[in-house]
Amino acid sequence: MPITAFSKQWGRELDVEQWLRLHGYAAQGDAELAGVPNALRALASTDIECSCCGAAGAILVGSGRGRATDRAVTQTHFRFRGPDGSNPHDPLCDYFDEKRVSGGDYLTNFASDRSALTPAIRELVCRGIQGGLFSLVIVADIRDFPPKF
Ligand SMILES: [Zn+2]
Repeated sequence: MPITAFSKQWGRELDVEQWLRLHGYAAQGDAELAGVPNALRALASTDIECSCCGAAGAILVGSGRGRATDRAVTQTHFRFRGPDGSNPHDPLCDYFDEKRVSGGDYLTNFASDRSALTPAIRELVCRGIQGGLFSLVIVADIRDFPPKF
């Protein structure tokens, strides 16, 4: 259940609300996404890819509410399904086992310097930009790395 995924059309990582807004649908007041037109849902299944493995078949999932409190207990997110209902993720993908990832333990907080990965990723990205391998603004360049000659 990734919170964000890659949009081929927009060339960047987006969450459900951002992707809907870019297509002219304001999700405020529709936490369950009940009013999203079927045409947009169909477009999501072909435009949105899993950021880890590139799987297609995205389904827009609205936020869930707790029975007792009526507060949002899950955030809007993407789920991926093949045309036959199968799991389209690569077995090595972080999102392959949905039961394992539902707790959010798979998330790495790159905004925090407390993660050991943050300085390493920052160093790699800075070297890639400095070396002209990709630009800071074009996330798609990073997805396409290594460059094809
Ligand atoms: Zn995946």
